[in-house]
This record gives sequence, C-alpha cells and structure tokens, in this order.
Amino acid sequence: MAKRASAGKIAATLVPGDGIGPEITAAVVAILDALGAPFAWDVQQGGLAAIETAHDPLPAPLLDSIRRTRLALKGPLTTPVGGGFRSVNVRLREEFKLYANLRPSHSLIPGGRYEDIDIVLVRENLEGLYVGFEHYIPIDGDPHAVAISSGVNTRAGSRRIAEFAFDYAVKNGRKKVTIVHKANVLKALTGIFLETARDVARAYEGRVACDDRIVDACAMQLVQNPWQFDMIVTTNLFGDILSDEIAGLIGGLGMAPGGNIGEGAAIFEAVHGSAPDIAGKGIANPLALLLAAAMMLDHVGKPKLATRLRDAMSVTLCQDKVRTGDLGGKATTKELTAAIIRRLA
Ligand code: NAD
Repeated sequence: MAKRASAGKIAATLVPGDGIGPEITAAVVAILDALGAPFAWDVQQGGLAAIETAHDPLPAPLLDSIRRTRLALKGPLTTPVGGGFRSVNVRLREEFKLYANLRPSHSLIPGGRYEDIDIVLVRENLEGLYVGFEHYIPIDGDPHAVAISSGVNTRAGSRRIAEFAFDYAVKNGRKKVTIVHKANVLKALTGIFLETARDVARAYEGRVACDDRIVDACAMQLVQNPWQFDMIVTTNLFGDILSDEIAGLIGGLGMAPGGNIGEGAAIFEAVHGSAPDIAGKGIANPLALLLAAAMMLDHVGKPKLATRLRDAMSVTLCQDKVRTGDLGGKATTKELTAAIIRRLA
C-alpha cells in the first residue's frame, strides 16, 4: 500500500507530536535505524507543535505528506479538553478514512498482575459518538445549560469493521471474535452494530467463533478473566475505553500500540496520549510507539524485521531487565533506547 521511495526505501511521514511525542519518536527512529528498517522519513508537525509554527493543528504540508506516502508513524497529539480545536487524531482518521483501529495487547513481561494476555481489539474509528454532532442549548443566560450529542452508526460502516475483524482473525489464526455493544439501552445506535456484526459472523462460521457482550459486563470480565477474550470488535467510544483497560492488563499505556487503517493509508501510533505530566523529563516509555512501528513493518511486508524488533524488546525487558518507571524500573528513555539498540547489534 505504501508508496516506494528511492533506493529500496519506503517513504513514510513522521509526526513527532506533542508532550512526550518528540522524546519517544527520537527513540523509535534511532532503534529503527539500528534495525535497518527501510523507511525514508518525511518529518511533519501536527497538533500543538504545528499551532506554534503554522497556526494550524493540522497544516496542509502534513496532509500533503500523508497523501503522498499513505503511511505514517505519529507521536501523540494534545487535544484541549472541553473547548478549543477538534481532535487532530479524529480529523486525520476522517480525512484518510482510516475506518479500522487495530489495537493488539500482548504481555511482554512475565510476573505482572496478569500473565499471558493476548487480546486484539478492533475499534470502529469513524462513526459512533465521535462524529462530533454536538451543541449546547442556552437557557436563562447559561450558555451551556443543556448539551446534546448525536451518534451515527451505519449498516455499511458496521459491516466494514466487522469484516475487517473477522478477516484479521482468519489471516492471523485467531479463534474467536467477541462483539461488544450496548444494544439493551442504545437500541438503535449500537443495535445496528450488533445486528450487522452478527450477520457478518455467519459468513465465518466454522472458521472463527463469535459471541457478544454488553460493554459494562465486558469491562468487568476483562478484569476478572481476560483470558476468555481473543479478539473484540466494538464501536468507537467503547473501543477507546476498553483498549485503555486492556493496556492496563499488560503493564499500562506505555506498552499499547495501535494502527489506524483504511483502504488508502495507514497511520501507526501509541494508544497513549501526550502525557504532559512527564513531558521533557526524559522518562517516557517509548515501547508503545516502538510496538506501533513493528506493526508498521508488518503492514509494509517486513515481518522478519518486525519479529527481530519485538524479540530485541522482549530480551531487553525480560533478560536485561532494563525498564522505564511506568514498568517498575529506573531506566530513562535514552537508557532503554540504548539497551534495545545493543540487543539489535
Ligand atoms: P495520556 O495517555 O497522555 O497519559 C495518561 C497517563 O499515562 C499519564 O499519567 C502519563 O504520564 C502516562 N503515560 C502515557 N504514556 C506514557 C508513556 N509512554 N510512558 C510512561 N507513562 C505514560 O492521557 P491524558 O493525560 O489523558 O491525555 C493527554 C493528552 O493526550 C490529551 O490532550 C489527549 O487528548 C491526548 N491524547 C492523544 C492521543 C493520540 O494522539 N492518539 C491519545 C490519547 C490522548
């Protein structure tokens, strides 16, 4: 899918992002260089960083670059809470019709609260409550007296994401897909998703098992017995929340990668945000973005490089025991980066 650059290189857009973004993207690029990953980076600013330089959180050169490369590795972008500009992450997903958000969570470090977690969550990325159809109704001088939000799920969008999940299951040897919804209360909005995903599941009978859960029960069962889950397919908001919960089972947000995938482009990123509380301290864990880079290598048909990268991470964490603070260690971002590079040598 990605456009080839000269000399066997694959052109890819690199967005350092906000907060800890520049620190973890520098770490990831250094490790990918040591690995010999074939990316030719076109570095572009987005988010708060781009407001400072281009007065626009989603400037035209960034969009043009992704239109050209159709492949990006993106650091986290800050979104103001409440007011301010609309999420640049959401706008990028809409712009490039990145309808599938693939979020695999796999335990890399043994001995944690949960062992051997291996769950792939597929989140619908363009519809639901993230369409941003929101407004306030002023009453008696209070401009925010009533807030109204409308969600949109379509038959076609639900079918497309369910087919993505079941196809992924077949191609990657996964056994079961659990459809997660809230069709008991949001009967239309998530009922259409459940109905359509069940219909898609019928075409995979005998190859991939299927069951379903109401989102609140699913959230509890993920804590009580996460091993019953293999893959989850769900709507946009529920996918956002449950993927953070699942990240918590494998050591936290520093270990959770994601891929935003559409027919014409793919953007890989960490599940976590810009972590303003630790930005600039040199202690951020770069592994979530590094795992996203491994997904990117798989995506461009370089699975051997992806496996070498994951193996080097695993040995660094488990044998060398070099870990950042969020994983109970003392290593800085730079120390962890150097340790992984040593294991790639
Ligand atoms: P966050 O994910 O940035 O941070 C939550 C907690 O996890 C913080 O305590 C943080 O220090 C920690 N954490 C996150 N990543 C870490 C890492 N790599 N290493 C060590 N610790 C890490 O969530 P937040 O604070 O709610 O959001 C901050 C900003 O990020 C907001 O503006 C939000 O909109 C944005 N955001 C962006 C994305 C994205 O770009 N895809 C995703 C989520 C949130």
